[in-house]
Amino acid sequence: MIKRRYFLQLSTLGITGLVSPEFFRAPQRGNRPIVISTWKEGIAANNAAWQILSKKGRAIDAVEAGVMVTENAINCCVGLGANPDRDGIVTLDASIMDEKGNAGCVAALERIKHPITVARRVMEKTPHVMLVGEGAQKFAVSEGFTLEEQKLSPAADKQYKEWLKTSTYKPVINIENSGHGPFAPTRFKDGTFNHDTIGMVALDAAGNLSGSCTTSGMGFKMRGRVGDSPIIGAGLFVDNEVGAATATGVGEEVIKICGTHLVVELMRQGLSPQAACKKAVERIVKKDPKKAKENQVGFIAINKAGQHGAFCLQKGFNYAVCYANDHNVLIDSPSWY
Ligand code: ASP
Repeated sequence: MIKRRYFLQLSTLGITGLVSPEFFRAPQRGNRPIVISTWKEGIAANNAAWQILSKKGRAIDAVEAGVMVTENAINCCVGLGANPDRDGIVTLDASIMDEKGNAGCVAALERIKHPITVARRVMEKTPHVMLVGEGAQKFAVSEGFTLEEQKLSPAADKQYKEWLKTSTYKPVINIENSGHGPFAPTRFKDGTFNHDTIGMVALDAAGNLSGSCTTSGMGFKMRGRVGDSPIIGAGLFVDNEVGAATATGVGEEVIKICGTHLVVELMRQGLSPQAACKKAVERIVKKDPKKAKENQVGFIAINKAGQHGAFCLQKGFNYAVCYANDHNVLIDSPSWY
């Protein structure tokens, strides 16, 4: 009955064309609190977030503490140990959003360990939403952050030197075990992708939603390039009435469809988190199927009821879901191709 009522509401709105089969499946049980995050690194990040959520802490504190774990990891995909830009410099982007719709972002930030915390300070301590480059760094230092030495991690240094041999700047996938990822996520033999982002969204015990997203951006990007991760509505969007979503993959494709804003708006219209993520991916495919075939983009989302979902372009994207002390699991996202 409920499904039929939703269907009738949607038909009166003239948007039944948006409804996918997932919409009519038995609804997934929701959980509260719950935290989900992108890729396998999300497991460790969720653990830190869960420490806060399980003690009835705020979602905004959980999503900050969660992704800080990934920012801290040397030789990881995110933070100062990650891949540099094509000039050999690591530049970081991050965004955060709370349950009130407040947002803070930093882009092209250099030599600061925790861009997510700087983003939160932008949100809480300035009249602005985004600070970039030198200004963002200056603000971070004025807030007491240490200016770290710019030094590539051994893994990033190796990949950068390898990349310099060809310096190709175009999306490459389906490379078997290339070990380095020029521009776009590269698929390894085990089906996983090289990537540079962690995105996390959470619903706390009080029923409030928040989200965070932090990245070094695409490996070997052009100097000055900013991706989707620090852009509200692209790499991250939270609406406390509806749900929250975050993205990973080729940021240019996410920005062009205002990806996470689209996912949240589709959930507002009644789609499940997974159906909404799938519709957003479909938007990318329809715009340019040839390009979509060559790129990876993944969305993850939760709604106000604590249901979760994901969808991506290519196989190989996974996300971590945690809603109990003994339930923090990696789930393979369904994919378009
Ligand atoms: N979305 C990130 C960017 O475009 C990269 C990634 O997720 O791997 O900067």
